[in-house]
Amino acid sequence: MNKVLLLSVGNSFFKGALWGGYDLELPLNAAYVAAFLESRGLGVHVVDLQTLADPKAHLAALDLSPYGAAVINCTLANTFDAYAVALGVKARRPELPVAAMGVFTVLRETLLTQCPALDYVVVGEEEHTVHELCAALLAKADVGDILGLLLRTDSGVNGGVQANAPRPFEEDLDSLPFPARHKFPLDRYYPSPGKYARLPQFSMLSSRGCKWGCFFCSNLRGKQMRLRSPENMVAEIDELQERYGAREIAFVDDTFTADRDRALRFCELMARRQKPPMAFRIAARVDTVDFELLSRLKDVGLYSVGYGLESGSDRVLAFNKKGFTTARAREAVAMTRMLGLDIRGYFMVNLPGDTRESTEETVAYIRELELDLVNVQIAYPWPGTAMREFVRQNYEVVEDIWERWDLCDGDDISFLQPGLPRDYIQDTYKRIIREQYMNPLFVLKWLGHLKSWHDFKYSFLQAASLFKRTVLRLS
Ligand code: SF4
Repeated sequence: MNKVLLLSVGNSFFKGALWGGYDLELPLNAAYVAAFLESRGLGVHVVDLQTLADPKAHLAALDLSPYGAAVINCTLANTFDAYAVALGVKARRPELPVAAMGVFTVLRETLLTQCPALDYVVVGEEEHTVHELCAALLAKADVGDILGLLLRTDSGVNGGVQANAPRPFEEDLDSLPFPARHKFPLDRYYPSPGKYARLPQFSMLSSRGCKWGCFFCSNLRGKQMRLRSPENMVAEIDELQERYGAREIAFVDDTFTADRDRALRFCELMARRQKPPMAFRIAARVDTVDFELLSRLKDVGLYSVGYGLESGSDRVLAFNKKGFTTARAREAVAMTRMLGLDIRGYFMVNLPGDTRESTEETVAYIRELELDLVNVQIAYPWPGTAMREFVRQNYEVVEDIWERWDLCDGDDISFLQPGLPRDYIQDTYKRIIREQYMNPLFVLKWLGHLKSWHDFKYSFLQAASLFKRTVLRLS
């Protein structure tokens, strides 16, 4: 009863409408928490349920007696699965406290009201709160004052839920131990064919928070950007290479290039490293890149850049507080292409303020840019965002979808705005997918990317799913 059980329920970074589902990525936030608990002397056993052939059977057979606390990590899309896991744990050991952490905690109090098996919700950054909570639970001490925690009360305000004061975000990211990857079944993770150049690939996070304020973004880690030092990043890369044989890093930062000087210093350190080369991919905002920066990054291994381009309409970009124009985006795409880097673009249809005209601008823009990979989603108003409130007040909410957290991946229409009928949104979304992926040039190029039987199998499944959804028009 002196250990923590950390259960992770599905967690795929960049799990998009098109490319999610087949790749399996290590839940980095859970690995950070596991490392933090270990570094503070707590025993922790991790089970990443998405890697198991039969998670239900595994859970049913799992001996729960060594644990004094269980923590469930989950994405929003898998919220209902997390409820089932919590209920299963409680059914077998009712006295075992169960806490929620991870992306689905954007639902805050709703988790406690919807799932009676959850006792606590860790809101915001997890490491310190999970540690304090688990240490207190293992010591049978009071948890009432722990920052960043929601807990049940008999008579609390908010329908029996007490919301403690928020936990300040961790300022010094370098102080956190590197993710405890050794606690995860590394041989089970595999990126989809469009998301890697060389294996083994490992994900890394070099910053937290985002200083920009895009209307639709849940910005889970706050508005204040915190950056790891380049020295600390390179030390983790060295560890990944030496301990796990990593050949590629997928940086999962929202904007790797947010601080130009830091990015340049990173290039300097990478160039000085006396180690085999490392390939890496990043995501960036178009207004944070320039030719010199991209070129220096390319010199030390960068091969792919993802840009959140969102819309082909400057009016819609401004409406959604994106903070750049299509002209700036075109410039960034052109310089990235000039350097021979692979370009991924992320777009949305049915953004607030969209009309038929702006949607057609987006379709034409996607065609014009000729990117290597296009990810398109139907805008989804995430719980806790300004956009969700705006949509609720100004547009028609699709009630069946509105609280279906499992439908948050951008395939479904959760609100309707004037002048954009449901059929038009759905057809345009499918039209973009068909144009991009059911074209012979793309298919030929894609086939050239396949490196294994695994890639081939997954590409076949992706293609079958696309065909079913966009040509046969089955959902
Ligand atoms: S969409 Fe990207 S740039 Fe905009 S607020 Fe979110 S993380 Fe920041």
